[in-house]
Amino acid sequence: MKNKPSSAVILLSGGQDSTTCLAWAMQKFDEIFALTIHYGQLHKIELESAKKIARLNKIPLKIYKTDLFKEFTKNALLNKEIAIKIPKNKLPSTFVPGRNLIFLSIAAIYAKQLDTTNIITGVCQTDYSGYPDCRDNFIKSLEKTLSLAMETKFKIHTPLMWLTKAETVKLMQQLGKIGLLKHTHTCYKGKRPACGKCPACLLRLKGFKEAGIKDSLPYK
Ligand SMILES: [Zn+2]
Repeated sequence: MKNKPSSAVILLSGGQDSTTCLAWAMQKFDEIFALTIHYGQLHKIELESAKKIARLNKIPLKIYKTDLFKEFTKNALLNKEIAIKIPKNKLPSTFVPGRNLIFLSIAAIYAKQLDTTNIITGVCQTDYSGYPDCRDNFIKSLEKTLSLAMETKFKIHTPLMWLTKAETVKLMQQLGKIGLLKHTHTCYKGKRPACGKCPACLLRLKGFKEAGIKDSLPYK
């Protein structure tokens, strides 16, 4: 009997991390289904990046739109009038409450439908602004909850969980897909060329610098 091909659903935002996860997944799984959530983010450029990256890698992409976060949350990613702030000992204004909880739940529903149990997300505990839904304990807990909820043994893969930004850049180089990062989107201002000054751009640039690799993304 022929083994069933291995498959996975990947949350693809069009950013550097999820794109690196896609390159990782392409080496690990036979079949990949990308899922992009259109949740009212101010910058349509993210969606365009996700579409382009999926197309370049011949990965089927599903875009799911939800107004949930626009209806119920206020933060700098969804509301133009809120400034990007990263205060000490408090969540940054870019934090979207429940985002990864909902995104991963949608991914699990989609995975169930596709008869796969693998879900991949680019969350990372190491270098980030302390988003609670990027932490390993949350992911482990949700993996258990989703498995109980759907009577399916889901596995949430987080290949970047313990990597620094520099290590993520190096991983992409090892995977032979560093050029793909040219098409990713990072800038909080939604600019292309990227602004090079916002916290997201600075974190990205720091990672490349520490890795000793040039970022192919155009900057102002
Ligand atoms: Zn920027």
